[in-house]
Amino acid sequence: MDLVKSTRMEMSNQVNNTEMYITGAPACPGIVIGNTSLYQRARPHVSDTQITDDETEVHIHKFYEALDIAEEELEALLENTDMEDLADLIEMQIAILKDPELHNRIEQEISANNKPVDAAIESIFRNYLQVIRENHGETFQNKSVDISDIRDRLLQIIHNKRDDIKEGAILVARELSPREVISFSNRNIKGLITDRGGATSHAAIIARSMNIPTVVGTQRATEVINSDDEVVLDGRNGEVVVHPKDETREKYKSLIEQQFKRQADFESLCKKPNETSDGKTFSLQANIEFAEELSIANKYQAEGVGLLRTESIYLSRKHFQNIPQQVAFYKSILELTTPHQVTIRLFDVGGDKFFGDEGKEQNPFLGWRGIRMLLEQPELLKNQLRAIIKTSEDFVGRIRILVPMVSTIDEIRKLKDIISEVQNELLNEGIDIDKDIPLGLMVEVPSVALKADLFARHADFLSIGTNDLTQYVLAVDRGNERISNLYDQRHPAIWRLIKEVAEAGERNGVPVSVCGELASDPIAASCLMGLGINALSMNAVVLPSVKQVLRSNSYIEMQQLAEKVLAAETMDDIDNIFSNWETKE
Ligand code: PEP
Ligand code: MG
Repeated sequence: MDLVKSTRMEMSNQVNNTEMYITGAPACPGIVIGNTSLYQRARPHVSDTQITDDETEVHIHKFYEALDIAEEELEALLENTDMEDLADLIEMQIAILKDPELHNRIEQEISANNKPVDAAIESIFRNYLQVIRENHGETFQNKSVDISDIRDRLLQIIHNKRDDIKEGAILVARELSPREVISFSNRNIKGLITDRGGATSHAAIIARSMNIPTVVGTQRATEVINSDDEVVLDGRNGEVVVHPKDETREKYKSLIEQQFKRQADFESLCKKPNETSDGKTFSLQANIEFAEELSIANKYQAEGVGLLRTESIYLSRKHFQNIPQQVAFYKSILELTTPHQVTIRLFDVGGDKFFGDEGKEQNPFLGWRGIRMLLEQPELLKNQLRAIIKTSEDFVGRIRILVPMVSTIDEIRKLKDIISEVQNELLNEGIDIDKDIPLGLMVEVPSVALKADLFARHADFLSIGTNDLTQYVLAVDRGNERISNLYDQRHPAIWRLIKEVAEAGERNGVPVSVCGELASDPIAASCLMGLGINALSMNAVVLPSVKQVLRSNSYIEMQQLAEKVLAAETMDDIDNIFSNWETKE
């Protein structure tokens, strides 16, 4: 057996039979047991250490091994393609891989300069690209992409981190972007584990809405988990068990059975009226981003959509400027939610919701996002408004528009002018639009919450986005697992602000709802009710557990609970109040 393989086996044997627990933040409830697939973005990190003389042999061997694999992969691709251009390209890449000059240089870099294999590949390809740039001038761009692709292919093989994600696997990744979660959800992924990210990062929210059990912020999952390891993922408490013992596996299997049973109980609970034990009614709606999520929302009897995130339209770049595509999307949501309302939020792009490197900023969450960006992209904004307002023709009284990241009154004034402009254009074209679409503001910037009376006078409704409100009030990045212990939406300061907003809404006759993740905690939802907010929108998967708690308590008890959280001084106080309420259940 070769040295490389035997070293790899020894390493895996050391951990193979040992049960190990890793914890992170629970991001989507549900328990799954399965085998893992490691996922790494296209270009792995390259080591910056030096190797010893004794190690050079192993690294040279690794290089040739990677070379063989890459060549086999390319040959297989070549066999399966009918496209001439692609075939030419693959042949060119194979020729490069076979180039003895390349082999010599990489060997040299490893043995003479003591570079680890990945660093050697990186540095030789850098020189190679430089030479090509000098020789090919303008045509360099295309060539360099093809050559970088070979480099990345080799690096990925060496790091054993290819995107060979298997159907039904539990995916382990350093971090995931919202777009990656969307794409994995189409690949039947059973669960997600990430090193980085908090439970309210946008990627985690999407995972939750796709009902994929998820644990985020484990810090070290990608270091200790290999591909094809068996794991138990417990998305209720953020626990991951690697190589579970037989008894652990059995314990979780029986929990999974209970999970199925609870599911059946939930469905019958959801058919009961939305009222507290003393008859105070409430409305529970779903936060969604894709039409697919409506099957869960409808199963749990959501009363419409309290937050339709539209970023996925924006992220799928090619569609966002296409008005008919947008109209078709909005229509599909409205048709599936009859007779309820759908609150469509304008593109909330920026923060963690950018694609690619475009528009990178040093403080993206405090930067050019939401309405700030939309007002500077009039075509994008007008197209979206046009699509929404045009859709209203067939759904009068059922659409509401929600504005993200509002921080000044001027933004609302400008937006209203643009809405009137779009309305007039459509009316002139003879389209019978809904002229009274309510315009709501997200309350997620602290200054808006503090001046809620003023903002309420400019809006038809207010929707509190506790995910962002919390990060701005507490100065804690919602996606940073390093400080995730400081990020708690139940913080006393947040309750204080929510109360202000609820009262301002009441004074001005403007309905207030909550669409941030705070509403998905059953006890927090009870507090929100106690503060007079009886319209809550949440991830559809948690609708039954919230409803269960709201139905089994009285409004008076909820008011008392709200008084207690308002009087709390610290997070410990809040924890105590919440756990006492839980034991009461
Ligand atoms: C929020 O900030 O609470 C919210 C609902 O919006 P998002 O999570 O999409 O930023
Ligand atoms: Mg937000």
